[in-house]
Amino acid sequence: MSNFAWVTLTTNDTYSLGALVLAHSLKRAGTAHQLAVLVTPGVSESMRNKLKDVYNVVQEVNVLDSQDAANLALLARPELGITFTKLHCWRLVQFEKCVFLDSDTLVLQNCDELFEREELSAAPDVSWPDCFNSGVFVFKPSLDTFAKITEFALKHGSFDGGDQGLLNSYFADWAHTDINKHLPFIYNVTAFASYCYLPAFKQFRDKIKILHFAGKMKPWLVQFNSESRTASAPSDYAHATDLIQLWWNIFCDNVHKTLTDKMHTKGVSSDNFGFNFEAGLAGALSQLRLGEQRTPEQDAYEALMRRQCWEAGQIDYAGKDSFENIWKKITETLESKPKTETEQQDDKSGSS
Ligand code: UDP
Ligand code: MN
Repeated sequence: MSNFAWVTLTTNDTYSLGALVLAHSLKRAGTAHQLAVLVTPGVSESMRNKLKDVYNVVQEVNVLDSQDAANLALLARPELGITFTKLHCWRLVQFEKCVFLDSDTLVLQNCDELFEREELSAAPDVSWPDCFNSGVFVFKPSLDTFAKITEFALKHGSFDGGDQGLLNSYFADWAHTDINKHLPFIYNVTAFASYCYLPAFKQFRDKIKILHFAGKMKPWLVQFNSESRTASAPSDYAHATDLIQLWWNIFCDNVHKTLTDKMHTKGVSSDNFGFNFEAGLAGALSQLRLGEQRTPEQDAYEALMRRQCWEAGQIDYAGKDSFENIWKKITETLESKPKTETEQQDDKSGSS
């Protein structure tokens, strides 16, 4: 068996949906390598079992329970919790080399050649190309490196509060030293940013190997119609409609049937690492019957989705949440409200 692995991370059942689709996308692309996922206590037992079906390794990471130096360090700096969670990938020393992928990435074509690269190889971040984006990176598991990055984090923190700032400070020579450590952009195409350069997106889209849904819009937050099995992309993602649909096709073909209502249907409280993402989707999606007429479950799912989107700041101004529709709803509510005593008296005096 290969000694290389693709590694991702999930802290709740919603991000786990991403991890499941990602794993199937890797398999569809015919990877020869193993799959590993780091999970935190926020991931339900039934979701872990589903992850086990596609991942060779499902590794629980819970720094706060461990009795090592990283734990002690973390207790002193709880704000670094999220960052530390990703760093655990360096502890997967059973593998010789790994590629970390955010669970909001989708592999479109085989990229096993990435394992020929050295640590730390990554693609530029679109907002500051002298920094690499930490959604896709090649690394070499090592307890020594893990300890060094942890120590570095405690000393210097992270300039953006997340793993990307920390890793860019630690691997500070990335921008200038070795061009082989610069992955081509096609290995980490930010779905949203490509909107800023549509001609390039059109020209090179067939070359994209890994798509990254970085930012607030995640494919699982897109409205999905279970009857027609179609996802409706927000207007600023119109160029990527078919890629968002691809995410949902993989979801329908490979993931949906594995979901159960034992997965979280309500938001889990934030786990030790401060992730506080509403994790209600997996349970709600498990209730949908694909290809069948609209059901009350579809209505319930859509209501949940819209609430999550509002909370995540994704407001569908052009569609259901347009001013017109909101105004209609307000008017309906006002009209259906029984009149108060004063209003009734007003009516009487007005008519007399
Ligand atoms: N993540 C997670 N739970 C969260 C937030 C993040 O498991 O609540 C993991 C997941 O693997 C995710 C990665 O951390 O892909 C980085 O977060 P995200 O992709 O949301 O950041 P972005 O790429 O949008 O900057
Ligand atoms: Mn991401």
